[in-house]
Amino acid sequence: MAVAPLYKTQELKIYNSISGQKEVFTPITEGNIGMYVCGPTVYSNVHLGNCRTFISFDLIYRYLKHLGYKVRYVRNITDAGHLENDADEGEDKVSKKARLEQLEPMEIVQRYTLDFHNILAKFNNIPPSIEPTATGHIVEQIEIIKTIIDNGFAYEANGSVYFDVKKFNETNNYGKLSGRNLEDMIANTRELTAQSDKKNPQDFALWKKAEPEHIMRWPSPWSDGFPGWHLECTVMSTKYLGEQFDIHGGGMDLKFPHHECEIAQGEAACGVTPVNYWMHANMLTLDGKKMSKSTGNILSPAEIFSGESDKLNKAFAPTVARFFMLQAHYRSILDFSNDALEASEKGFYRLMESIGTLENLKINKVTEGFDVQNWINECYEAMNDDFNSPILIAKLFDAVKFINSIKEDKATISEADHKLIQKTMNEFVFDVLGLVNTNEASSDISDKLSGTVELLIQLRAEARANKDFATSDKIRDELLAMGIQLKDGREGTSFTLN
Ligand SMILES: [Zn+2]
Repeated sequence: MAVAPLYKTQELKIYNSISGQKEVFTPITEGNIGMYVCGPTVYSNVHLGNCRTFISFDLIYRYLKHLGYKVRYVRNITDAGHLENDADEGEDKVSKKARLEQLEPMEIVQRYTLDFHNILAKFNNIPPSIEPTATGHIVEQIEIIKTIIDNGFAYEANGSVYFDVKKFNETNNYGKLSGRNLEDMIANTRELTAQSDKKNPQDFALWKKAEPEHIMRWPSPWSDGFPGWHLECTVMSTKYLGEQFDIHGGGMDLKFPHHECEIAQGEAACGVTPVNYWMHANMLTLDGKKMSKSTGNILSPAEIFSGESDKLNKAFAPTVARFFMLQAHYRSILDFSNDALEASEKGFYRLMESIGTLENLKINKVTEGFDVQNWINECYEAMNDDFNSPILIAKLFDAVKFINSIKEDKATISEADHKLIQKTMNEFVFDVLGLVNTNEASSDISDKLSGTVELLIQLRAEARANKDFATSDKIRDELLAMGIQLKDGREGTSFTLN
């Protein structure tokens, strides 16, 4: 007989941003979940705050799958239409970068999409089921604009098309996700500038006529132009998940206006509210302050992995950084600091060591000192309570304590309980939290090896300074033969492993 899926016996509660409450989760179709998460705008290297958002939704995806749901996870790539300042004016972020670097926009898109995939893979994120792009869905975006115009919720002005927020609010509720009210928004905004084609400042672009210098443009019934940033998510979520689907996620900063506009577009086009559960992941701070390029209070994923940052004393394995992030609940602000990461690292290796110990534990007739079944229930209770990973991790450390006391002959475990605890630990640590078992020894060796290469780099620099090119070339060539490539740059010599 087939075992019933776990979701039949587990009651999952999700904090729904639209109601401001934890709600019992019930999918539209039993056993199946449609989940959409707003992806990155690929015009620069992915930053740490984005990584945290995607790691949070990776945890959610993993747990839903663990419960036995069939999940279709759609996460888009924004490769056109996202203007500077997230508003309807200014340059397209991808185009601007292309102009500055004298590259094709699609070269920019390719470069930063690869970076994004590479960094998320290092964090052991599972790729989504579908990863559609805005430029791949221009036709669908034009079609939905026509529908919204036909339904009376959008108007054309000088080749651009705008969503009529005031009109929409007469029959629907604009602001229900972010808790805003249109009258207050109107009272708090300045008059439109004379050049604006909008009827009201709250209106947002569905289609923008391209200025002559704008490179990324497509023909449409209204003008040669490009879609508004909010539209792609409505189009791609309805295309792949249906007009109504279960979960929509993203960073907290996207709640308004982006997600509010998505609700309005969905309701205006399809006549139904698109999403049942809205989920928002919170932001990151660094050393207690907001991360910001302009103040230099910034840390990139690459700097964490290499340790090359004045904010860090050392490098951290990606899985340690992931573990650190999961020690905070996804809705709490998380503060990054060297000390907090180092504390997390100690805990991480303690957890991994105990998983190793678990394999060779002495088995007894009975279990004493721990209620295994109760502990398993508590692990599920933590995750069922809006994916509370910090509580889950605390529970895992209860098991670590028990494992250590068995090792010290202060407790005993039966064969059945041993199997159960091993299975549960593996499922939660590797399948659900998505951690990777790297032990301290191997990371210690890699620390020492990179120290050794640094020493050779230094000796080579000294040889070169003494015009001893035979020695300096020998160091370079022998390292290369071992698969270590030296790269001379303005800021000294670095190395990569081939
Ligand atoms: Zn979006």
